Amino acid sequence: MEKVLLQACNDYEQTGLKDIFSKGLQVLGLHFDRSKVLLKPNLLAGKAPEKAVTTHPEFIRALSEILLDHGCRITIGDSPGYESTKKAIINSGIMDVVRHYDLNMSSFNRKVIKKHDGISPYKRFTFGEDPEDYDLVINLPKFKTHAMMGLTLGVKNTFGFIHSFEKARWHLRAGQDRMLFASALIDIHTIANPHLTVLDGILGMDGDGPSNGRPRNIGVVAMSRNAFILDDAIERLVKPRYPLPITVLAGRHGLIKDYETVSYDITPVIEDFRMPATMATDWGIPRPLKTLLKNTFIKKPKIRQSACKQCGICIKVCPAGALSPGQHEPPIFDYKRCIRCYCCQEMCPEGAIRI
Ligand code: SF4
Ligand code: SF4
Repeated sequence: MEKVLLQACNDYEQTGLKDIFSKGLQVLGLHFDRSKVLLKPNLLAGKAPEKAVTTHPEFIRALSEILLDHGCRITIGDSPGYESTKKAIINSGIMDVVRHYDLNMSSFNRKVIKKHDGISPYKRFTFGEDPEDYDLVINLPKFKTHAMMGLTLGVKNTFGFIHSFEKARWHLRAGQDRMLFASALIDIHTIANPHLTVLDGILGMDGDGPSNGRPRNIGVVAMSRNAFILDDAIERLVKPRYPLPITVLAGRHGLIKDYETVSYDITPVIEDFRMPATMATDWGIPRPLKTLLKNTFIKKPKIRQSACKQCGICIKVCPAGALSPGQHEPPIFDYKRCIRCYCCQEMCPEGAIRI
């Protein structure tokens, strides 16, 4: 039976982290001597570690040391939301680790076509990096809330394999429907098929994540060879008030098999956990009605004028072309075009967009 390891952990102290990772690798029976390894952290945007937007540099450092001790060659990469991988690595503090251990970097800007007949209606995906080029792919998600998916954990983190220019297209194709988008995310994860997922849930984020929520201590590290069961185990700790699309769909398609939870010092529930405001709407409304009545039922993104620096990033990332520049004022929404994907809220570096 597959296993999920859950370990209480409240800081990024190196000795403690290395003990946790070594124990986890042993429990999961993963062999990785002299492997060519790809580390796929969450590099959504280059934000300081205390903002809890990206996988913590010390988390990556501890795991890298173990891998290097076993003679592995490490490449690290992701496709961030609006900036280059290198810039996100520098601004998130991960560059110190890259330089210290002489890790390779991948910008995830190749064009690797993957054909897959999975659970979504889509059959062709363009990846920015080929996971099949590595002996071992390690998925390193950050524990955060997410406007569309409720939480971003192991399965959602592999959306970063999609080539950066293709991401907006995916939001446009599937982003108006949570379940449709979740089905595409599940297919992308199945193609990426990481050998190991290690969740950084030490300092996580609740509220209106994934980039502007409330950083808060979650105090957990989770490890599994199967991200579907890892996500399920974490959701059992959080007990979200709303069903989460990825685990609902994964369960429906038999992707969450029976598993064993090996836990150390974990308290049964994470108290006072705030879900994103967007999760309170649109469950149970049929899609055609939802499209018709979206301006009434589904929360609109809005800009707080005082916080907006008019950087234009929201205009750049909007897949529907629903934002246009204001004249000496913040961008203006066209709510008729807006598909409520919340990419603008996700990417605004100032946290100026609220739902
Ligand atoms: S709302 Fe945010 S992303 Fe958009 S222009 Fe203002 S600061 Fe930039
Ligand atoms: S305005 Fe924001 S929520 Fe609406 S489609 Fe554009 S990015 Fe998505």
